[in-house]
Amino acid sequence: MALRVMKFGGTSVGSPEKIRNVARRVGRACEEGDRVVVVVSAMGGETDRLTKLAHDIASRPDRREMDVLLSSGERVSIALLAMAVQKLGHPAESLTGRQVGIVTDEDFTRARIREVRGERLRKALDEGKVAVVAGFQGISPSEDVTTLGRGGSDLTAVALAAALQADVCDIYTDVDGVYTADPNIVPQARKLERISYEEMLEMASLGAKVLYTRSVEYAARYKVPICVRSSFNEDEGTMVIEEDRSMEQVLVSGVTLSKNDTKLTIEGVPDRPGIAAGIFSPLSEAGISVDMIVQNVGRQGTTDITFTVMKNEAARAMEVMKPVLEETGAAGVTADDHLAKLSIVGIGMRSHAGVAARMFKALADEGINIYSIGTSEIKISCLIEAKYGELATRVLHDAFGLEAGAGTREMDL
Ligand code: ADP
Ligand code: ASP
Ligand code: MG
Repeated sequence: MALRVMKFGGTSVGSPEKIRNVARRVGRACEEGDRVVVVVSAMGGETDRLTKLAHDIASRPDRREMDVLLSSGERVSIALLAMAVQKLGHPAESLTGRQVGIVTDEDFTRARIREVRGERLRKALDEGKVAVVAGFQGISPSEDVTTLGRGGSDLTAVALAAALQADVCDIYTDVDGVYTADPNIVPQARKLERISYEEMLEMASLGAKVLYTRSVEYAARYKVPICVRSSFNEDEGTMVIEEDRSMEQVLVSGVTLSKNDTKLTIEGVPDRPGIAAGIFSPLSEAGISVDMIVQNVGRQGTTDITFTVMKNEAARAMEVMKPVLEETGAAGVTADDHLAKLSIVGIGMRSHAGVAARMFKALADEGINIYSIGTSEIKISCLIEAKYGELATRVLHDAFGLEAGAGTREMDL
């Protein structure tokens, strides 16, 4: 008898009919004799609707209240799904983040999980019930409701799978696996049978929203195998697992596109030691992550520094930097949010040259300008104009031959 964690995203529970469809899948798992924990998101579009409501009331809503508001979406879907499962004759019980004991820190709207208690969850399972758990939410040590960041139900599912030592964590969604690129952008994208945690982590953090970045991080840490599959068909999905040698032969596993970044340029900063530290320390203290940092060659004692931050953190980043910029006498700071981050990811890149050159040439042949470049061992990212994002994704998918066969192999270069 297997213990399965099955997570269904917002698009899978977007209407009463879809909820009934999920209930039927859950029912089948029960009939196969499995013990089942189901994690659900809010009904599709609900979290966006609630966010908009909050912004209609306040331009910068209080983050604690935001979490009280946002966590309500998942309460609706667990109750409805539990009713639908019960209707099929299987005992089921809905449980909130607080009831299953997902304890987080107090960083509202992006809280981190500290502990999963799970007594209530085990009790429900021992009583032969399907546990229908609200994704995306937890409880702080002082008993405030917290949320785990957009897409956070994936993290709830993985954390429960780790705590219960489940056999597998199935993530059901509106695509039938992880593809070489977003299939909604590249129709020829190919489904991957397997992908390593490390590559999936890069792909997720660079825009492949099929999995929430922090869920992949958590799965890698606790070695939870994830299977991404469709809510609407029985096809085999994509396994996200530990790397093995055969994976290294593939140079590029996927292309990703993210339009979530804003490029900030600080002009006319004094070109002397300590300046970069002076700018980036307050940002890191404020919990703002920066990426794609470029410092231009200095001229007449001053230089420009360019970097990206998440779009929704750009205003706060400007505020945090204000005192430092005044102190250093910088000429000013400009923000550009008409850019997209286009990336290729693959563990085979670690040991092979020539990948970057092929990427840049493919973009140049299409007349697409690159504003900055960032690299890590297994990825290369370029900032380009947002309006070319989708086109550029298709261009790179083609340039690396991802449509055919098993991805670009070393001998292709
Ligand atoms: P859910 O509501 O189930 O959580 P999401 O919308 O968060 O679903 O994630 C599924 C979406 O992820 C797909 O509809 C697809 O457009 C997008 N996506 C982006 N990159 C990829 C990729 N490489 N493979 C599969 N899907 C991707
Ligand atoms: N409902 C939340 C969101 O839309 C969490 C999730 O769906 O994973 O981000
Ligand atoms: Mg999601």
